[in-house]
Amino acid sequence: MQFAWADLPDNELLKLRICDLHVRIEGSELEERVHELYSELAARGLPVRPDCYLGDEWFSPEGSPAIAIPFYLAHPRLRQLELHQMLEVEGGTYEWCMQILRHECGHAYDHAYQFSSADGWAEIFGDRDIEYQPETYRPRPYSKSFVRHLPNWYAQAHPDEDFAETFAVWLSSPVDEWRSQYRGWNALKKLEFVNELMGHVRSQPPVVFKARRLWEASRSRRTLEKYYGVKRKLYAEDFPDIYDADLRAIFEKGEVGDESAAQVMRRLRNVLIAAIVRWTGQRKYIGSELVARLISRCRELALPAPRDHTRLLIELAAYLAALVTNHLHTGRFKRSY
Ligand SMILES: [Zn+2]
Repeated sequence: MQFAWADLPDNELLKLRICDLHVRIEGSELEERVHELYSELAARGLPVRPDCYLGDEWFSPEGSPAIAIPFYLAHPRLRQLELHQMLEVEGGTYEWCMQILRHECGHAYDHAYQFSSADGWAEIFGDRDIEYQPETYRPRPYSKSFVRHLPNWYAQAHPDEDFAETFAVWLSSPVDEWRSQYRGWNALKKLEFVNELMGHVRSQPPVVFKARRLWEASRSRRTLEKYYGVKRKLYAEDFPDIYDADLRAIFEKGEVGDESAAQVMRRLRNVLIAAIVRWTGQRKYIGSELVARLISRCRELALPAPRDHTRLLIELAAYLAALVTNHLHTGRFKRSY
């Protein structure tokens, strides 16, 4: 589909209101992905097709058998803007998009059938009335009680997320595959529970039929500029503290070289950000902001850099990984689906 705004430079595009973009799932690459989700459901004999619409983020509105897909995925120019603004596009590849769709579909099915209020559910997935804080959970990376699907052991965030992730694994792979993959794991009990539950669903009408669309993009009068202002602020809200003493311990070691600490950091910037994102699963925007803050602090302290970069690199990489991981376990955790 052709849109006049697609040729605008970023600064002009940002002035537009989201509702004036007139993007739709139909005719975009999302159309095929939604159909793929529906055919996976049909192949399992599941009757409910969650109502998919464009929203501001990925989510399933509470109590509603619907899935909000972020509007920027509906057009390549908006995906490009998202990339410029946030440095990554959540669900921007086919596989990633399908993973999140299946996850949200798990929530949508829960909303349609209200499984989580039924008998036996809490014994398997835990008490869902605990305060909802997917941003502050403390994951146990080696736990075998949870399936592995989205990054950051997301199933451990909350019983509802555990269910959605278990559903996603159940939907994405044949019975034999998940049975063999999770053999000997406690998570297998959850998969078997979902398998049995879906057996009932095949012959049951849902409790809730009507989908409610929250934060629908076509009604959002917010400009893209405002949208990104809010989103960036949300992700940048509280970085881990960077301790000057740590920076001194890292940089003021060994014989002083020709470059300043800030210069070395600037040169290594991309490698460091890529490594942080890859091994912590944290958002790229956060990795980038963290490194930027580190560089400016090094400049303010006028730190020199040692001549021997080998040791420096190892120290720096380990420090950043520790900082981000610590933040992930104890501070606010920004990913939520
Ligand atoms: Zn979720």
